[in-house]
Amino acid sequence: MASGSVAVVGAGALGGWTALWMRRGGADVILLDAAEPGHARSSSGGETRLLRCGYGTAVEFSALAWQAARLWAQEEPALGGDIWRRNGVLWLFRSRADGYAAATEQALTRLQVPFCRLDAAEVQRRWPVFRAQPLECALLEPEAGFLQARRACRGVQERFLREGGQWRLATARPGRGLGGRLLELELSPAEHLGADAFVFACGPWLPKLFPGVPQAAVRVTRQEVHTFAVPPDRPEWTADRMPCWIDYNSGIWYGVPAGESRGFKIGDHRPGPAFDPDHGDRTPSAAGLAAARAFLRQSFPALRDAALVGAEVCQYELAPQDRPFCLRHPEWSNVWLVGGGSGHGFKLGPALGAAAAAQVLAG
Ligand SMILES: Cc1cc2nc3c(=O)[nH]c(=O)nc-3n(C[C@H](O)[C@H](O)[C@H](O)COP(=O)(O)OP(=O)(O)OC[C@H]3O[C@@H](n4cnc5c(N)ncnc54)[C@H](O)[C@@H]3O)c2cc1C
Repeated sequence: MASGSVAVVGAGALGGWTALWMRRGGADVILLDAAEPGHARSSSGGETRLLRCGYGTAVEFSALAWQAARLWAQEEPALGGDIWRRNGVLWLFRSRADGYAAATEQALTRLQVPFCRLDAAEVQRRWPVFRAQPLECALLEPEAGFLQARRACRGVQERFLREGGQWRLATARPGRGLGGRLLELELSPAEHLGADAFVFACGPWLPKLFPGVPQAAVRVTRQEVHTFAVPPDRPEWTADRMPCWIDYNSGIWYGVPAGESRGFKIGDHRPGPAFDPDHGDRTPSAAGLAAARAFLRQSFPALRDAALVGAEVCQYELAPQDRPFCLRHPEWSNVWLVGGGSGHGFKLGPALGAAAAAQVLAG
């Protein structure tokens, strides 16, 4: 297979990395997408995405995230640099009662991922912007932080092209199959593209393309993210001075500090209502803004009246148990479906892409 041709549909975090690793594995790879990598309607299409390794008892995800972190570090210069900001991720545990904090500590210790436990007084001393009461403990992952998501998607595509990959801006869907194999993609306008193997890394569009494949039936949910202005001349609100954070018992709200002309970003990790990535209304809702402001009032009182400077509606593509997948199509043996980032898949891109590429190249 390594010398064969592969068409990868979808140039988001998962498709881009899969294409790059397959190219490096010796395949003749063409990457296609209906729009530019990291475009506004794709799940990878935000400015920033958190990179953290804590996952409670899901040690396999901690291991994957740590592997991905090392790959981001290794590949960052080749992607144009300035992609991974290691300002740390601070987990705030208002209560440790459900065991998630302890399980995270155990997993990170076992995997030798750097972290430290802080008490409320230490959090308050180091970052007075956080409301540190009540707080049973905090865990700081000092080597975690955030990825410049859109920039990273473009960087992966550019690297892929420099290493001999081909790129095509086109909408694609499975075309003719024969004898248990897919022969070609149908591109629009009417055109066909053949290959030895096909990877569909189409994020939230997978269920539309493969309605008959239950394993790829990711649940697509509407997610809102808000960005607020921070007080001027106050570096303590920026990534130079402040880590990203996850307020575990809040539901879960998470955020990225201000910087590089960005405001202070906050998002609610709980899955929203069902959403259509093509036709869903991307107008931010009054209820979403009210919830964000209520969270700010409670957890960052100094931002209670902060000006809203941005709001985005994006979508999660949730797989069962939030587990990303690379699965072979049940009827076509040369077709793989890669997806299910489930609100945490961006950072895993290089590791998941490497695993998917190995699987496809091994046939
Ligand atoms: C608000 C929000 C916050 C998130 N926060 C984090 C975080 O902090 N950390 C983290 O690790 N992850 C996070 N995630 C999750 C992560 O961003 C996604 O899981 C990941 O980006 C999914 O990548 P993907 O490549 O599978 O899908 P996508 O990025 O959606 O890419 C799929 C691509 O396929 C293309 N495509 C689809 N159908 C076709 C077709 N027929 N023909 C051609 N092209 C097609 C699309 O145009 C698109 O570019 C977040 C997601 C959201 C929405």
